[in-house]
Amino acid sequence: MKIALIAHDKKKNEIIELAKNYKDVLAQYDLYATGTTGTLIMGETGLKIQRMNSGPKGGDQQIGAMLAVGDLDLIIFLRDPLTAQPHEPDVSALLRLGDVQKIPLATNVNSATIMLEALKNETFFEIVKPLTIRK
Ligand code: PGA
Repeated sequence: MKIALIAHDKKKNEIIELAKNYKDVLAQYDLYATGTTGTLIMGETGLKIQRMNSGPKGGDQQIGAMLAVGDLDLIIFLRDPLTAQPHEPDVSALLRLGDVQKIPLATNVNSATIMLEALKNETFFEIVKPLTIRK
């Protein structure tokens, strides 16, 4: 199962805390992240993460490309809804593709927490397995 982790700059602290709290859960899966988010989480947790470009330099598009071919199972994307992003078109494209593929996608820390709690018991995802979860 492949999980993508992304956070806008003002949400980096939240995603680091989340990754620390759920390190044992996340460690069971193949992890992907945009550049800066991945670097920070790896540094703080020791989790192994495959990093894409930084978001504003195409990282969101790279994650989106994985989505487009059905190569991601779950996304945590902590968006900053109060700050204009230079790569807003890429962000919108990623979110749109997530919905096209019906991938579980959390855009705030509380939704992400619920998803990670559910991952502790992967059978919870049986109900969406035909659409998403793949080993
Ligand atoms: P970053 O990208 O992890 O490289 O900061 C995230 C984003 O802004 O989409």
